Amino acid sequence: MDCYKRIRKEDKDIYRAVVGEEKRQAEGLELIPSENYVSRAVKEAMASSLTNKYSEGYPGKRYYGGQEFTDQAETLAIERAKKLFKAKYANVQPLGGANANIAMYFALLEPGDTVLGMDLSHGGHLTHGHPVTYLAKIFNFHQYKMKDVETGEIDYGAMRRTAKEIKPKIVLAGFSAYPRELDYKKFVSIAREVGAVSVMDIAHIAGLIAGKAAKNPFDDGFDIMTTTTHKTLRGPRGGMILVRESEELAKKIDKAVFPGFQGGPHMHQIAAKAVAFGEALRPSFKRYAKQIIANTHAMEKVFKKNKARMITGGSDNHLILLDVWTSFRISGGEAEKLLDRAGITLNKNAIADDTRKPMDPSGIRFGTPAMTTRGFTAKEAARVAEIMIEVLTKRDDVTVNRAKREMKKLALAHPIPESFA
Ligand SMILES: *Cc1c(COP(=O)(O)O)cnc(C)c1O
Repeated sequence: MDCYKRIRKEDKDIYRAVVGEEKRQAEGLELIPSENYVSRAVKEAMASSLTNKYSEGYPGKRYYGGQEFTDQAETLAIERAKKLFKAKYANVQPLGGANANIAMYFALLEPGDTVLGMDLSHGGHLTHGHPVTYLAKIFNFHQYKMKDVETGEIDYGAMRRTAKEIKPKIVLAGFSAYPRELDYKKFVSIAREVGAVSVMDIAHIAGLIAGKAAKNPFDDGFDIMTTTTHKTLRGPRGGMILVRESEELAKKIDKAVFPGFQGGPHMHQIAAKAVAFGEALRPSFKRYAKQIIANTHAMEKVFKKNKARMITGGSDNHLILLDVWTSFRISGGEAEKLLDRAGITLNKNAIADDTRKPMDPSGIRFGTPAMTTRGFTAKEAARVAEIMIEVLTKRDDVTVNRAKREMKKLALAHPIPESFA
């Protein structure tokens, strides 16, 4: 732990939290589909002196002097992001995915304007208009859903009818708990029909798109994409907004991010984004993205064989939603705790039209991005799924403890890599 020698000497309490978390990550099996491990190079950029600098504005147009190197870092992040996602414009300043979405709404809407987004219980995200968010007090959100929970097909007919009726300014695609690829062309055609801007929130699948293991929504005509940079994209915690080609939209986005919504950009994070985008441009990242999906398919096969109910019947991406209530007569909350005791970290999750309460829903959500970064093969991913089924079925201490030992061994056999070069 040489890189923490100063904290160790000068702040023992935080030192304990830092190395405790590091050990937890090294020994545990991380199945939360929104988590990943960054490279040492990304960490070095995050820990750099760029954090000391105020850089309000954009490269070449700042409010303070001394921007020679911050401009270099931000310009590199922008250029690499554009190349990675085939965008004409990129804003790399949003501090997170929620910030990116909020800035996007403020760029495109007036208070009271209408957005058509995916229902949260069908896979959408809180920031897509859930009543608990302040966004829902400012804008008018309507939801579309899946037509068939067993296949995951979106009800595009109902969506088009709703769009014609409510005339949204934004047609929003994207999700945090949906295991299928969307029909992007249908979204774009509905948006164009009603004169809305089409936005895809790629927070969860940005890495799959960058690694060409999933379709790029820009290829089918989406106007804007918002994203996080820390999920499958494997960069530092942060957000980003991409614009396919409209200069007018890009200008609105830039203004909304700063000065509209945020203050000074976090230049150390932006430098780290540039490093991560550089990593994602390498051929090895394509192999990574492909393996994420191969590992999901390996797990999917085990659940299918054991007749466990997966929402939409399976998965095309990096995550699986398992209806543990129907499959194993255990609630999502209890399943989360039980598997945690077995050394497997994942989260409880509502399933479509869940009959159980949000704090203890019917499902669990898990995925393969983190284990794939550690180098898990399809065979090992399948073994994790087998262990999950055994634990969820038997639930006794002997089974749980045996699972925990095996999971720790498997994790330690795949140390978190320092580099993806
Ligand atoms: C994770 C996520 C976000 C929010 O990102 P934060 O960085 O946590 O603010 C937004 N949209 C979707 C679809 C997400 O999955």
